[in-house]
Amino acid sequence: METVPEYFGSLVFNDATMRTRLPKDTYKKLKRTIEDGKHLDLSIANEVAHAMKEWAIENGATHFTHWFQPMTGITAEKHDSFITPGDDGTVIMTFSGKELIQGEPDASSFPSGGLRATFEARGYTAWDPSSYAFIKDGTLCIPTAFCSYGGEALDKKTPLLRSMEAVNRQAKRILRLFGNEVKTVKTTVGPEQEYFLIDREAYLKRKDLIFTGRTLFGAKPPKGQELEDHYYGMIKPRVASFMADLDRELWKLGVLSKTKHNEVAPAQHEMAPIFTTTNIAVDHNQLTMEIMKKVAEKHGMVCLLHEKPFEGVNGSGKHNNWSLSTDAGVNLLEPGDTPYENAQFLLFLTAVIKAVHEHQDLLRISVASAGNDHRLGANEAPPAVVSMFLGDELTEIIDSIINDAAYDQKERVPMKIGVHILPRFPKDNTDRNRTSPFAFTGNKFEFRMLGSSASVATPNIILNTIVADTLEGFADRLEAAGPEEFNSALHDLIKETLIAHKDIIFNGNGYDGEWIREAVERRGLLNLVSTPDALPYFASEENIALFERQRVLTRTEIRSRTEILFDNYCKVLNIEALTMADMVKKDILPAVAAYSAALANGIAEKKTVLADLPCDYETQTLRQLSALSSEIWESCGALEKKIAEAHAIAELPRQATYYKDTVLPAMQRLRAAADAAETLTAKDFWPYPTYSDLLFSIL
Ligand code: ADP
Ligand code: MG
Repeated sequence: METVPEYFGSLVFNDATMRTRLPKDTYKKLKRTIEDGKHLDLSIANEVAHAMKEWAIENGATHFTHWFQPMTGITAEKHDSFITPGDDGTVIMTFSGKELIQGEPDASSFPSGGLRATFEARGYTAWDPSSYAFIKDGTLCIPTAFCSYGGEALDKKTPLLRSMEAVNRQAKRILRLFGNEVKTVKTTVGPEQEYFLIDREAYLKRKDLIFTGRTLFGAKPPKGQELEDHYYGMIKPRVASFMADLDRELWKLGVLSKTKHNEVAPAQHEMAPIFTTTNIAVDHNQLTMEIMKKVAEKHGMVCLLHEKPFEGVNGSGKHNNWSLSTDAGVNLLEPGDTPYENAQFLLFLTAVIKAVHEHQDLLRISVASAGNDHRLGANEAPPAVVSMFLGDELTEIIDSIINDAAYDQKERVPMKIGVHILPRFPKDNTDRNRTSPFAFTGNKFEFRMLGSSASVATPNIILNTIVADTLEGFADRLEAAGPEEFNSALHDLIKETLIAHKDIIFNGNGYDGEWIREAVERRGLLNLVSTPDALPYFASEENIALFERQRVLTRTEIRSRTEILFDNYCKVLNIEALTMADMVKKDILPAVAAYSAALANGIAEKKTVLADLPCDYETQTLRQLSALSSEIWESCGALEKKIAEAHAIAELPRQATYYKDTVLPAMQRLRAAADAAETLTAKDFWPYPTYSDLLFSIL
């Protein structure tokens, strides 16, 4: 049997493969392109394409595709085979440098938020050599960025790469001030991915799961997650075999799948990879979600990535662990051993604090979706208010800087940046506060508001941009101070910034209602509860200026993205509402009617045998079900009316708000009545697998 090191990355055209397959000179030039973002000329591209094709064919590939990440949040691919006809009825397999570097998918049907009128539907995809090509299902996949011919980004990768470049530019300026010349600074990401596994047979009987990814009906089962017996619990054999297969498939694709365990809710699990460079981590997370679904199918299960598949138990999120790293592998959020390293660390830390405080709106927007609205603030995920956890040690240090007070108990002198050494912070302090949206965990930040199904590109575009912008301001100021004044300028800058932005720091319980009041009323933090509340902030003049300054998004791109997000929110709610009405009219009401009729017949039959036979159960249930049936019918009609009203609203932000304020509550009313009917209806009559069937379906 092959060992893991033998097959790890076997489907990836990675560095090792490139080195053995490419002429030395070509390899070197390609490597320079990958590492420094240097331009690759066509003759080199031709050689790379040839080697890639030979390798792909040997590994069973017949097609290639430019694999890209449009605004749908999932990936897109259109497969072309390598075949070229010969003169004699045969074919040869070809793949040119031009085909490798650039593609022209007909992209008129991807969401573009009005960026690209359909009459000029052509966008183009451009190879991202910093993310390796790989083989998936017999197709050579080439990671690409997707733009319009006018140069506007139509995807998530383009702004992500731009944002990484922005961090690189500014972080290098900061490091230079500390005497550190580095080639590149890249951000790193390790996304922890939560998911549910349910039985496929049960899944296929639920229209709501099929159409919307979540259950729109379902009474609470007798057992939920209250015993807390699932978290880190024994992994069931069927799930364990899924996980083993998943690891194998991911490892073949070079994804560093590392940790797997059961999560809090029944049927909920998590996978965490070892962190890597951000754009690769994003590609890998997209692949991970796709492979999870495919492998689940093979095991007769379905992997649910929706943020809230089941009411009453935890939903699923993603934790975006984020840091900055130099090409020498130095983690810039690692405190270090010398006063100088400590000072540099504190400057980066301060930059993140300022960035998060000033751009709460953007961070909130970066995780906003209809699905995630069910989690944020719903007592399981972090609240919708963005705040930052630093832990006691670091908070004490910051307080001592702010107050010029003694931190070190022995020395009894105020903490002086650039002079004193910081104590070591315990690294594994994540469990001490799991309610914080944005937590420092020893040598990285963990952004915990992400939804499980979303691409991690967007939050990282935002994080990179806001940190780059803050670093730029810092670099401007420190460069102007000059080398002699550097230490005192640094101290003043850190101190002033911490004073101005300390209100974002909160080490307490994020679920506490008192905190939300304090955050909003005393600290003036934003509480953007829902997606329609958050989205209008995206295209504010400040935000447009920020993105343009950092060259990440243009005004037009921001407008189009806002429109796509609003549009998506409305569409998701519309589909959910229509699915509910459909389920009610086609399945739920007929089931209730059938069972009511059975009860009525039963009563009648009993009475014909013996007129005084007690029929308490039958009559009471019949009464209750008849009342509920009317309520369901009425609520369904009301919901349909609201849907029609929503359709009549032309302006997207207003329509989104209408869905949230009017359609969503109508959906909840309908659900409540239907769920009550479910608890009274005999199992054989109920048309769908219940929560018990779904959540405890894997044995
Ligand atoms: P925990 O499980 O307590 O949250 P771990 O140390 O297991 O913490 O890390 C969780 C995730 O954070 C993993 O994906 C890990 O690879 C990632 N991670 C660790 N260091 C970094 C870093 N410097 N940059 C980005 N992610 C990191
Ligand atoms: Mg974690």
